[in-house]
Amino acid sequence: MKANDYHVTMDALVSLCKRRGFIFQTSEIYGGINGFWDYGPLGVELKRNIKACWWKSMTQLREDIVGLDSAIIMHPRVWEASGHVGNFKDPMLDCRETKGRYRADQIVVFKHKTDADALMFAFHEGTEPAASLKKAKKLTNGSALMDDYETVALLDIPLDRYSKLVGPDTNEPGTLTEPRAFNLMFKTYVGPVEESSNVAYLRPETAQGIFAQFSNVCSTIRNKVPFGIAQIGKAFRNEINPRNYTFRSREFEQMELEYFIKPGTDAEQHEYWVTERLKWYEKVGLPEGRMHRDIHSAEALAHYASACTDILYDFPFGTQELEGIAARGNFDLTQHQNASGKSMEYFDEETKEHFIPHVVEPSAGVDRIALALLCEAYREEWIPKNGGEVLTAEVGAKRAPEGYEVRTVMRFAPCIAPYKVAVLPLVKNNEELVAKARGLFERLSKRWKCFYDQNGAIGRRYRRQDEIGTPLCVTVDFETIEKDNCVTVRDRDSMEQVRLSIDELDSYISNIVDF
Ligand code: ATP
Repeated sequence: MKANDYHVTMDALVSLCKRRGFIFQTSEIYGGINGFWDYGPLGVELKRNIKACWWKSMTQLREDIVGLDSAIIMHPRVWEASGHVGNFKDPMLDCRETKGRYRADQIVVFKHKTDADALMFAFHEGTEPAASLKKAKKLTNGSALMDDYETVALLDIPLDRYSKLVGPDTNEPGTLTEPRAFNLMFKTYVGPVEESSNVAYLRPETAQGIFAQFSNVCSTIRNKVPFGIAQIGKAFRNEINPRNYTFRSREFEQMELEYFIKPGTDAEQHEYWVTERLKWYEKVGLPEGRMHRDIHSAEALAHYASACTDILYDFPFGTQELEGIAARGNFDLTQHQNASGKSMEYFDEETKEHFIPHVVEPSAGVDRIALALLCEAYREEWIPKNGGEVLTAEVGAKRAPEGYEVRTVMRFAPCIAPYKVAVLPLVKNNEELVAKARGLFERLSKRWKCFYDQNGAIGRRYRRQDEIGTPLCVTVDFETIEKDNCVTVRDRDSMEQVRLSIDELDSYISNIVDF
């Protein structure tokens, strides 16, 4: 499947997310602030479920990984040792005319192959060549021919040629500034005085908190290498160009594992974690067909890394990274050992060797995974009014064909769905029926996030649950109270119903919704 095979447009998804309370623009009443988002009542449940599935797979279902929750603000020397103060920079450039600001490494240039004096055209990476040619034709009085042009990286254009360069959002040449390095870390001051000795940084990743606590964790758990330390938490990057909804934000959450290994086992451990992580993605509802591995070439690796594979997903706006899995050698622990003067060595009881462990780091973004799951789950379907086959609606179609009605359904994997079960009394004006349904709702709520709804026709209530992705609807009817103590359980995806005894309900639900 390719990104453009989607049954959803970003517009439709963004609208559903706002309407149903998944994601809101932060401080919207004041006009919002670029790169920051709030998660509404449904979004917060979705995110909590993603984190819970990750945490369970890392720390509960395995004995070799423990958790940590380190502070967001750490000693600034952590970030000097890790290299972030010196190197965590992106090249940025501005357009003097439009005041647009761009990440230089994400801009490409459509340029004449031989004529050094011809105008050149800057575009966002991923722009179709046909769109580039259209602009080139417009600004060269129609003379541009596709065969005469090539696309090159902006960073390969010499500065003395910038006077011929037309920016992405203007028709004038010579308005782009030269690229300059911009550190992505947010700075703040600790204590009341704003002076350089009090500078601190909001962490741009959670990983360094793990490295800085390596010795403490080691001496408390006494695990044998290989073992891991996992952490989930907020990270902050002052991104030059936040975009694609929540995909590139300035405040986001990471789920990171540092898996400490014996030197020499890096390649096999790296491969193992790539496979493990892909299995996890499949389990939470991202199908193999839309997931990809981007294996970094030896030249593209950081000097200390021996392997790096990014896990990518086909979003409607392109194939993009959800997680990076890197074999980082012992670079981080060595840096901290050198900078702090504290030993980061591990003593292997069996071989009686002292060494600084190597590490494999699977580093995932919660918000990007949430966005991928929202994209993947969204479906518009045409349901036949009088029985027959359900059709997938055409993207952007406003109306269903004659004899069909539209249903919007979020086909979340049950383990990450915000609500697991909706409990619905068939009618609301029968006290005994309502009491039975309320009792059942309260009982199930002790184990799962449930929804109680007694308003409106039952069909409309099912549709409301479909739209927020609740996998199971349990309906209490007259037979439940008068006859058999059974309920009807409706499946969100197939819309099929089964009748079950209330006593069997917990194990039935558990089999479907638990991770
Ligand atoms: P990118 O190249 O997209 O900027 P990165 O390679 O810098 O990402 P890492 O430093 O490897 O990202 O961070 C690990 C994970 O953290 C990413 O795979 C992503 O899921 C998440 N992440 C990083 N930056 C952001 C961001 N600005 N907004 C949301 N999530 C992010």
